[in-house]
Amino acid sequence: MKNETPDLLFKNVKIATSEKVGDVPVDIRIKDGKIDEISEKLEAVKNEKVHDYDGAYVSPGWMDMHVHFREPGYEHKETIVTGATAAAFGGFTAVACMPNTNPPIHTRDVVEFIINKSRSLPVDVHPIACVSKERKGKSITEMADLKEGGAVAFSDDGDPVSNSWLMRIALEYSSMLDRPVINHEEDLNLSRPGHMNEGKVSARLGIDGTPGIAEEVMIARDIMLAELTGGHIHIAHISTAKGVELVRQAKVRGVRVTTEVCAHHIDMTDEEIEKQDFDTNFKMHPPLRTEEDRQAVIDGLKDGTIDAYCTDHAPHAIEEKDVEFIYAPNGIIGLETAWPIAVKRLYQSKEMPLNEILAKLIDNPRKILHLDIPKIEVGAEANLTFFNVDERWRFDTKHIHSKSKNTPYVGSEMIGRALGIYNKGHWVVNKI
Ligand SMILES: [Zn+2]
Ligand SMILES: [Zn+2]
Repeated sequence: MKNETPDLLFKNVKIATSEKVGDVPVDIRIKDGKIDEISEKLEAVKNEKVHDYDGAYVSPGWMDMHVHFREPGYEHKETIVTGATAAAFGGFTAVACMPNTNPPIHTRDVVEFIINKSRSLPVDVHPIACVSKERKGKSITEMADLKEGGAVAFSDDGDPVSNSWLMRIALEYSSMLDRPVINHEEDLNLSRPGHMNEGKVSARLGIDGTPGIAEEVMIARDIMLAELTGGHIHIAHISTAKGVELVRQAKVRGVRVTTEVCAHHIDMTDEEIEKQDFDTNFKMHPPLRTEEDRQAVIDGLKDGTIDAYCTDHAPHAIEEKDVEFIYAPNGIIGLETAWPIAVKRLYQSKEMPLNEILAKLIDNPRKILHLDIPKIEVGAEANLTFFNVDERWRFDTKHIHSKSKNTPYVGSEMIGRALGIYNKGHWVVNKI
């Protein structure tokens, strides 16, 4: 593709990968979108744009494997362009987008529409296609055709695949197609009509809760069906201690199961809903759980039970969220706050070393979705994320590039920042 930027010289960056974190800054020359030279000192040549990163890190580009970009159908919440912009400013060069659009991503033309729309953007947008036609949970989509069109996985996210027969068939097909089925783990008979985690806080507040068991029962079912069929089940947005334990045990048995955790679930608990006076920006599904659950998902990341770190970026318009707590839709935006949350809860707290955190953002999501993992080496396509782990800053609405502003983090003090990305010949630099 045509380059949008001239040749570039990135000076003074420390290379960090899932394997190793460098401590000596280097200079990286980009020519025609490729890494041309890496050396401790490079002199700028004519017509080359130079940017000094002042000792910040550069890693292979990050991927968020769980976002909702709302296009087609709900462009008042987010479009592929605004979602990709938020991703770029959050440090992501790739995302996988969920199919609860209108029409849903259930036919090949919708898959191709998303791929075509994102072709010229700095972020790779990989569509996840529906498991069921119309996302109605009744009959299976043309999975082979959807994969052919470019779908990287199958999910009815927004809703679970409740019908166990359908899940079994989907896993059988997915095993033939070698692509995962991603399930929003929720037994609707157990969870309804909950608006937050069922527990001490919901009892105190007098709000109907959705219990952890609603998630865990579905995870257990999906693990058993994956074991039976040999298909690959990816557990979306895991949030409970027992859920993590189910995945841990299944991995020991060799079941093809992977999972992810959202930034908000490593950061907050249901106590926030009480403290923040029913602010609807603390309402999502799965809901914020207990402190024990929060610790358990961090332990899951540490021991490899949880493979990927994601956002479940779920934009909603202000008027949709500006209603009574029980009427508000689920979900918050997350792309531009994911990194400082990881820095605070995993790195600064010394829970995990930087390279292991990066594996959850670079290698693992792409392994799960069978995508190439970018490399920082001479001759490779330049697919890069620039970031630091120590900058203190305050997150404000001016940092939000998403079309929606539904985040509980406005006004929060942050540590660590994504400084921009380089991908497909585009350089996005975060100067705000
Ligand atoms: Zn979901
Ligand atoms: Zn989701």
